Amino acid sequence: MTVLERAPELGEVGAGISIWPRAWRILGDLGVADRLADGVRPAIQAGLRRPDGRWLAKVGPGAADRIPVMVHRARLHEALVDALVARDGVEVRTGVKVGGLADLDTLPGEPADLVVAADGIRSTIRHELHQRDDVRYAGYTAYRGVTAEPVPGEASTTGGETWGSGLRFGWAPLVDGRTYWFVSANRPAGEVGGDHHADVTALVGDWHDPIPQLLAATPPSAVIRGDISDLRLPLKRFDHGRVVLLGDAAHATTPNLGQGACAAIEDAAVLAAQLDGHARIADALVAYDRIRRPATQRLVRASRLVGALGQVENGALLKARDAGLAGLGAVAGLLSR
Ligand SMILES: Cc1cc2nc3c(=O)[nH]c(=O)nc-3n(C[C@H](O)[C@H](O)[C@H](O)COP(=O)(O)OP(=O)(O)OC[C@H]3O[C@@H](n4cnc5c(N)ncnc54)[C@H](O)[C@@H]3O)c2cc1C
Repeated sequence: MTVLERAPELGEVGAGISIWPRAWRILGDLGVADRLADGVRPAIQAGLRRPDGRWLAKVGPGAADRIPVMVHRARLHEALVDALVARDGVEVRTGVKVGGLADLDTLPGEPADLVVAADGIRSTIRHELHQRDDVRYAGYTAYRGVTAEPVPGEASTTGGETWGSGLRFGWAPLVDGRTYWFVSANRPAGEVGGDHHADVTALVGDWHDPIPQLLAATPPSAVIRGDISDLRLPLKRFDHGRVVLLGDAAHATTPNLGQGACAAIEDAAVLAAQLDGHARIADALVAYDRIRRPATQRLVRASRLVGALGQVENGALLKARDAGLAGLGAVAGLLSR
């Protein structure tokens, strides 16, 4: 198998990532999970709060088989590379930008039997196959950070989200003891530059504990920012002859349910199982499409809805939202999903 990656070298951004139980089990089967955590996960009190700290809904501490494992992205990436790339003798060619399907025919060696296009939300291959500009800006940007060291107290025993007006803060302890946090803020698309740490401090620095402590424990250079987008319209199919779309290329979602990468991991597991179970690759791809398209497109819709609720900014709507959430025991279910 050959992996073509446009980046000059393999690596990941400095942020945390939630890995939900189904994806965690797949990583377990691949021998990756053991490299990330020793099985002990912090039992935390999570939930949804207002900026002054009052709880709208409390969840947990949840059962281990229902809560995500929180890891640093760089660790996940390293573990995947160590466990899979090295062990299976996969050839990884970095610094290779695929401009379109025709490029693949110019590579040395036999033409590929199967092309898996896992080239992200702005997928070149999806664009070539579907011929449309289909990335939608969600209306909010995300800042992300990880504390340099574990922060004692509430920062390591609690987690969840705090919803303000057009503004959210979320945090969760990572398995290595540090804490991952994010801020999502309504903003015009494409703002660049600036001091991200100063921005988030101005936005949420006076919110309830442990938010100020988490910001103080995060070096300014460790804060990253990116606009949030998803696919405007669901694709009609993921398979196209010998080519198949996987991960964000097929179903990029807003991160409100923290499951985009998990969905990509599940895609890969289902694709592998279907390839094992079918004599013809084309039949396996059709089966993969049938299994994964509905599930992932539901995820995109649900995540978009949570984002719309979380980013409400209008005064009357905001009051109605908070009153609704406070009265809604179902929030516990929503968050634990
Ligand atoms: C703020 C934020 C928080 C998130 N939090 C979570 C979370 O907690 N849990 C979770 O499960 N998911 C989360 N996600 C979603 C997750 O990051 C994505 O769903 C996941 O990265 C998708 O993986 P992918 O491999 O499909 O695409 P990508 O990660 O985008 O990888 C695509 C790769 O293809 C390469 N590439 C692109 N074009 C070309 C080309 N033409 N030629 C060669 N190489 C190319 C890129 O360089 C890149 O390495 C979050 C996303 C955001 C934005």
